[in-house]
Amino acid sequence: MADIQLYNSKTRTTERFDPIDRNNVRMYVCGPTVYDRAHLGNARPVVVFDVLFRLLRHVYGEDHVTYVRNFTDVDDKINARARESGRDISEITSETTQWFLDDMRALGALDPTQMPRATGFIPQMIEMIERLIAKGHAYEAEGHVLFDVKSYTDYGKLSGRSLDDMIAGARVEVAPYKRDPMDFVLWKPSTDDLPGWDSPWGRGRPGWHIECSAMSYDLLGDSFDIHGGGNDLTFPHHENEIAQSCCAHPEGQFARFWMHNEMLQVEGKKMSKSLGNFFTVRDLLDQGIPGEVIRFIFLSTHYRKPMDWTEKKAEEARDTLWKWRKATEGAVTAFRPDREVVEALARDLNTPLALSILHQRFKEAKSGEDINRFRSTLDFLGFGKEWPSGVTVAVEKAYGHAAKMQEIADQIEAARSAKDFATSDRLRDALIAAGVEVKITKEGVIAEAGPAFDPAKLEALK
Ligand SMILES: [Zn+2]
Repeated sequence: MADIQLYNSKTRTTERFDPIDRNNVRMYVCGPTVYDRAHLGNARPVVVFDVLFRLLRHVYGEDHVTYVRNFTDVDDKINARARESGRDISEITSETTQWFLDDMRALGALDPTQMPRATGFIPQMIEMIERLIAKGHAYEAEGHVLFDVKSYTDYGKLSGRSLDDMIAGARVEVAPYKRDPMDFVLWKPSTDDLPGWDSPWGRGRPGWHIECSAMSYDLLGDSFDIHGGGNDLTFPHHENEIAQSCCAHPEGQFARFWMHNEMLQVEGKKMSKSLGNFFTVRDLLDQGIPGEVIRFIFLSTHYRKPMDWTEKKAEEARDTLWKWRKATEGAVTAFRPDREVVEALARDLNTPLALSILHQRFKEAKSGEDINRFRSTLDFLGFGKEWPSGVTVAVEKAYGHAAKMQEIADQIEAARSAKDFATSDRLRDALIAAGVEVKITKEGVIAEAGPAFDPAKLEALK
């Protein structure tokens, strides 16, 4: 059995993973707030923790792992979206929840064992808030209930920040009813036009952080094995989850391992709407990029390093996966995955190493059994999804002709540098006539098979 080592953000060291109960290994990962399509950055933790889920199932058995990922379906962003669009809140949240599931499944992510919705756990949240008040960790003021940060001496330990740092760095909301600016909301009042539930503090709704504490306690207990999420959640969200859970249930340890994935960039820049490089998973799928190509790119970078999404990587990943797919057509997938690949994952999810082992195995594969094991390993890593047929036709036609396209592209470039524009134009027109899309950029000439690609015409070019 593989010995799993994981980097624990709580202790800042890599530790041997030994579950509390081998018969029920328990993991909680913060899920999406459902009001819009998931962008590419939202998908990274989903794929990272899906790989971990697959590894745990492999090591401890499929029925011995409980993976909980929530849906936040009560939030001010959802309320705002409902107001702007004039649509019903429940209509928005159920539609967006389904989008999320469809898009993540397209990336080869297994559904978690449980996917609780926050609105299904309001009584549990109220109960936890009452416990916190009773224990002197929370107080009521003007219809709000706030967590008293000063009552918990370990506050800030996960992110390694002092209270002063936190005040300086965070967008702390100053409000007259707070004893301390860092105190955070557990419950807040709702006006009649907003979603609300009856509570000992009047009609209101929960703060975001209490949702995860209440749901993880209800579904996983006071101590569980792993808590995951993006590193943008470390502070304040995870810090606040720890404060709530450890103060409400000091008999438990809450989460033993904390795991955080790094963020995502696009062509070396932060993804943002203002830079115009913001896109959703659905945008990519609609452009004909198969979900497992996206998955492959995610796995090619270690989860604790920033990941750069580039078009070049997408092309390379597509070509590699296509090559692997062609070679393993009809292979049997009932084999155990490659031991070294499993071991790479067991070393703090070293997915880049796992992929490089696969490259090596593919090169060395000789027998049918090698190919069966290779295909089984791909399945284990979550690469088994069918590609959309339009994509497979285009890739199939282009497959094996990349060298010829490159050769002509190089000739165009050479002709252009020699200022022989008659030749470069003739070659460009010939490529276009063969259904090849030609882009002339500062970095060089890019030739790619388009929908009307005709391999025979290309190969006939001189
Ligand atoms: Zn959470």
